Amino acid sequence: MEKDVLEKYKKAGEIGAKIKEEVLKMIKPGMKIIDIAEYIEKRIIELGGQPAFPVNIGINDITAHYTPVVDDQTFIKPEDVVKIDQGIHIDGYIADMAYTFCSERNEMIKAVERALEAGIKAVRPYVKIHEVSEAIYSEVERSGFGVIVNLTGHGLERYVIHDQPTIPNTRNDSQYELKEGDVIALEPFVCEANGYVKESEPVEIYSFVQPKPVRLPEARKILEISSKDHMGLPFCKRWLVKRGLSIFKVSFALRQLEMTEAVRSYPVLREREGKPVVQAEHTLIVMDKPLVITK
Ligand code: MN
Ligand code: MN
Repeated sequence: MEKDVLEKYKKAGEIGAKIKEEVLKMIKPGMKIIDIAEYIEKRIIELGGQPAFPVNIGINDITAHYTPVVDDQTFIKPEDVVKIDQGIHIDGYIADMAYTFCSERNEMIKAVERALEAGIKAVRPYVKIHEVSEAIYSEVERSGFGVIVNLTGHGLERYVIHDQPTIPNTRNDSQYELKEGDVIALEPFVCEANGYVKESEPVEIYSFVQPKPVRLPEARKILEISSKDHMGLPFCKRWLVKRGLSIFKVSFALRQLEMTEAVRSYPVLREREGKPVVQAEHTLIVMDKPLVITK
């Protein structure tokens, strides 16, 4: 990896680690999740980065892809497990990271953090994906819990959040070999027993796929913002409303853009039986001793 690229990854990771520390100091029951998401998005920019995607805040069985809606009234309750997934990029080089807060004692959070550490320890050049997955899954088993079977870690590329390889949190026989300089995110999701997510409402997050001819001025504006400003990275309705578009027109335009496959959507993912889920995630660069940029 070129030196200036490495520096950009390191800076993106440092910004993420600093914000995590700040958030864990201030978060408490009674807070509105929209205030936390907007704090994080504002701090990313103040510290010299750009949000790589809208901050995801998933409470309990809401596992991924929930970003606060416009004027979101959701607040944290004492027993809630609150997953915060934040992405920072510098010039397209992304640090993807997540952590879970609960104001009450929660053994699953410790278990997911241990599983993530076990996965990181297994990473080295030439390691096969199934070995990393085994390290994660066996640690979760030792804790007596399960994982979300259909969510995985992943590779990262410039301006691409989910790239090859897929890194399952369950046993598998993937012979894909990591190599020096690969950038990957490990992200176990732990649940009381093995579980699955399914697509649900609302749909707030989208990303640009391809240009298409559109007539609605709002649709044209969204295509411009999503391709030029966000460079194909995910964005949300809340961000578009902040830029002066009306929520009604934004929702209408996005439905049309999705139908023509100019954009794709990321519906909220919920655990299908309503079980609470916790998450931990770091981004690392594969080396003899992996460099965890988000720590
Ligand atoms: Mn993430
Ligand atoms: Mn990720």
